[in-house]
Amino acid sequence: ALTLNTVVKHFGSGKRRGRPALDSISLDVHHGEILGVLGQSGSGKSTLARAIVGLEGISSGSITRTLDADGAGPTAVQLVFQEPHDSFDPRMTLRASLEAPLRSRNDLTAVERSRKLTAAMEEVELDPDILDRRPGQCSGGQLQRMTIARALLLEPEVLICDEATSALDAVTQRTILELLQRLHRDRGLTLMIITHDMDVVRHMCQRVAVLYQGCLVELTDTDKFFADPQHQHSQDLVSAAI
Ligand code: ATP
Ligand code: MG
Repeated sequence: ALTLNTVVKHFGSGKRRGRPALDSISLDVHHGEILGVLGQSGSGKSTLARAIVGLEGISSGSITRTLDADGAGPTAVQLVFQEPHDSFDPRMTLRASLEAPLRSRNDLTAVERSRKLTAAMEEVELDPDILDRRPGQCSGGQLQRMTIARALLLEPEVLICDEATSALDAVTQRTILELLQRLHRDRGLTLMIITHDMDVVRHMCQRVAVLYQGCLVELTDTDKFFADPQHQHSQDLVSAAI
C-alpha cells in the first residue's frame, strides 16, 4: 500500500543540524495489514507519520503510495492524532468540521454529504445529534471517534493512528481499539498503529516496526518480535513488557 525508500528527515540546517529525525528509513506497508510502530519518545514515530501523510516534507528518499487494492488510484492515507481536541476547530460545530473536506468535492449534493455524515456516525457508533455540538461539549472518546469518522469520510486505504488512544481511559481505549479492529476486518482498512502499549501490539498487530534514534532497527512478525527480538532496544521493550 505504501513504500518508503531511504527516507531521511532533518530538522534545522547548517550547524544546528544534528542527528536526523528519520535516518534512512525503508519500509513497506502491506495492503490490509495492521503494523505496530514502537520506539521511545523522540525516536521519530510522529515525524514518520506526518511525513507519510505529507504534513512534513522529507530531506531525501521517497514515499510512494502504490495503487490501492482495486488498482483504481494511489493509496489514500489519513492520520489520527494523539490529542482529540487538536483535531478540531473549537469554534466550529463538528458537522461543519466534518463537512469541510466533503465540500471540496463538487460531485456531491448537500443531501449526499449529509447522508455520508450520517453513515459515518453509524460506522463509529456515535449518536448523530453529537454533530451539532462543538468539540468542547464532547468527551475525549467521542471526539476520537469523530476524528476516525472524519478520516473515513475521505475513504482512506491506510489509517495511521499516532497514539490515538493514549489520552483516553482504559475502557474507552479498548472500545476505540475494537472499532479500529472492526474497520480493519470489515473494510479491509490498512492500519499503522503507533503506540507505547505492548499489549496492543501483541493482540492487534501482525507486524512490528521499531524505531530507535530515527533508525528502523527492527521490522518483523509480531510472534517473532516477542519470541526473539533482534535489536538491543527491541529486547529492552519486550523484557519491560513481561
Ligand atoms: P513521542 O513518543 O514522544 O511522541 P516520537 O517518536 O513521536 O516521540 P518525534 O515527535 O517524531 O518523536 O520526534 C523525533 C525527533 O524530531 C525529536 O528529536 C524531536 O525533537 C524532533 N522534532 C520533531 N518535530 C520537530 C520540529 N518541528 N522541529 C524540530 N525538531 C523536531
Ligand atoms: Mg509522537
